[in-house]
Amino acid sequence: MSTTLSRGTVTIATERCKGCELCIPACKPNVLTMSQARNELGVSYPELAPGCTSCGACLLVCPDFCFEIYRFESPVSHEEVQNSEVGS
Ligand code: SF4
Ligand code: SF4
Repeated sequence: MSTTLSRGTVTIATERCKGCELCIPACKPNVLTMSQARNELGVSYPELAPGCTSCGACLLVCPDFCFEIYRFESPVSHEEVQNSEVGS
């Protein structure tokens, strides 16, 4: 079992996203990945995994203002079960 801390979170206006992917490398903790699903514009959009630091880099880089950033008062921990631990 490993634990990931989130110091904040983001909302993503996926319906506005044009799929440029600028936010993916901008996110230094690597917690944004492009979706398999498509929005109504027919493009992939970013999805958030645990570990956001609320740094704001995604908000600054997105040309379509898709992100809003929220900082938690206290970090939230997410426990991840490794595949090898499932069923043990
Ligand atoms: S606020 Fe920072 S850590 Fe959180 S998703 Fe955006 S770029 Fe990544
Ligand atoms: S930077 Fe904005 S428009 Fe580009 S993929 Fe990310 S959310 Fe979508």
